[in-house]
Amino acid sequence: MDTVGNTPLIRLNKLSEETGCEILGKAEFMNPGGSVKDRPALQLILDAERRGLIKPGATITEATSGNTGIGLAHVCNARGYKLVVCMPRTMSLEKQRTLKQLGAQVILTEPIPLKDPVTGKPNMEHYHNLVSMIEMLAWQNTANREAHYLTTGPEIMQQTGGKIDCFCAATGTGGTIGGVSRYLKDYSPKTKVVLADCFGSALHSWATTGSSPVTEGIGNSIITANMEGLRDYIDDCIQIPDPDAIRMVFRLLYDEAIFVGGSAALNVCAAVEMAKRLGPGHTIVTILCDSGFRYGSKFFNKQWMQEKKLYDCLPPEHRAGIE
Ligand code: PMP
Repeated sequence: MDTVGNTPLIRLNKLSEETGCEILGKAEFMNPGGSVKDRPALQLILDAERRGLIKPGATITEATSGNTGIGLAHVCNARGYKLVVCMPRTMSLEKQRTLKQLGAQVILTEPIPLKDPVTGKPNMEHYHNLVSMIEMLAWQNTANREAHYLTTGPEIMQQTGGKIDCFCAATGTGGTIGGVSRYLKDYSPKTKVVLADCFGSALHSWATTGSSPVTEGIGNSIITANMEGLRDYIDDCIQIPDPDAIRMVFRLLYDEAIFVGGSAALNVCAAVEMAKRLGPGHTIVTILCDSGFRYGSKFFNKQWMQEKKLYDCLPPEHRAGIE
């Protein structure tokens, strides 16, 4: 538990040289559970313990795209809790297997919308919609945002020596951007906060293509409690097309020697776009949310890449490892 957080802030050398800005990525994939979600996982449990809500032997439940579950599984093992997680069936096999290997019970849910697309009303008779409602409730725990206000924000300020012109982050539960932006606006009010997002929320993607979005963990259709008041802190919002994010996964891997997942790559795309908009000489910080090892069955799977129409977007020299 003590090894959660205090992650390095890595300079992305090639991208910094190309843009004339300092583009820095917070290496959250180096947390013990392998993602940015280790921080809220720890905080959620410590907060519930402090409030006397749980004691060893209790069962914790969480709706997750995988990473919060993996973080929680470690903390639950350390503290003697059982864990049941609900996660969409479309999340990577690596995450599903890791959760089981760590001892969590996993309930897979269908990627269906909360509301009936015709009537616009939630169909509560559907079991999976019920689970979706539980997911919504689980996302309302603001100990999540608190974790980032208490740790990620101060670490970024300390590691940049307070020289930070812009912070970009994609949003799932909104915990990261909610906590970090609040901290930055309190202690470095001139720092621009930019919300990065994919095109099409989970709901939009399901309705238009019948499939799940390419980047896991971000691009939601609901505003959570962790995002409450956030509009006052957000200066801009950038949408990144899927092919750009996926191309960046491979660019980071081969040019910067950093192996991350789709949301981290999308964040870096947003940071590069902000570097162009702000011009040379600025410092831009973003989050490298999790590791590319978690998505091998997708990004290095030729069939999946072709189905998503992403294979042809890659330069030929970056396709060599895809089978
Ligand atoms: N990237 C990944 C891979 C994630 O799992 C998550 C969490 N759902 C995020 C980004 C977004 O982080 P947050 O929930 O703090 O908005």
